[in-house]
Amino acid sequence: MASIRKVLITRQGKKFYAKNLNEDLHTQYGFIKKDDLKAKDGSLLKSNTGREFFIFSPYFIDLYRKIKRDAQIIPLKDIGFIIAETGINRQSKVLDAGAGSGALSCFLASIAKEVVTYEIREDFIEIVKSNIEFLGLKNIKIKNKDIYKEIDDKNIDVIILDLPEPWNATESCSKALKPGGFIVSYSPSVPQVADFVNALRKNENFVYLKTVEIAEREWEVEERKVRPKSQGLGHSGFLSFGRKVTGNL
Ligand code: SAH
Repeated sequence: MASIRKVLITRQGKKFYAKNLNEDLHTQYGFIKKDDLKAKDGSLLKSNTGREFFIFSPYFIDLYRKIKRDAQIIPLKDIGFIIAETGINRQSKVLDAGAGSGALSCFLASIAKEVVTYEIREDFIEIVKSNIEFLGLKNIKIKNKDIYKEIDDKNIDVIILDLPEPWNATESCSKALKPGGFIVSYSPSVPQVADFVNALRKNENFVYLKTVEIAEREWEVEERKVRPKSQGLGHSGFLSFGRKVTGNL
């Protein structure tokens, strides 16, 4: 996947991406000449039809929004809550399973020290690799392994499970986490939450903390017409949190 070199944005917030600065960029609002694409960040450009665009170099989030998605990826609102609740930072060693398209792994790798991601499907692993390359990340390891069976990584600070049966991973996770480390499960449905939390409560290595659902409601702001947008992001999933409390044998 060719990487994105420049972002162009109209005053109305509509974005376009230039991958090749040696070609004109065609948009629904006319085209921008290739020489103009080499302008300084923050320059105001005009298309051949006179439409205005601002140009700048992409931030991580601009690229992240363009990654390939095959498996259902976790929404940003839920990623934000996981990070805030567990305090993932540049010292953290994080494990994520299953990788899916690698969206969560890639986001976490942009702020954590190290990310390991487990995935059973080889076709998904190819997508994850291409997303890692597209984002230029160097601190993610992918393992083609079943997380329900065994985790050969140790001293993990945070494990995030986005899997059909997260309760089958509590045993393997308890061995991989550091004392005090977090286990987080993201599941779309209520029976999954019940089975995961029950498994956590039965396992003496963990204390269960809480389950939340994060609702995001975007508002429309047009002059004095200010009201919730009629269509928004609906239900995504529940987030359940626990902590590994015992020492490692
Ligand atoms: N959080 C990911 C999406 C995960 S989709 C993202 O943001 O992109 C769930 C993934 O879990 C699927 O790709 C599936 O193949 C994988 N999976 C299911 N069971 C697994 C297991 N036992 N071990 C590892 N991966 C598993």
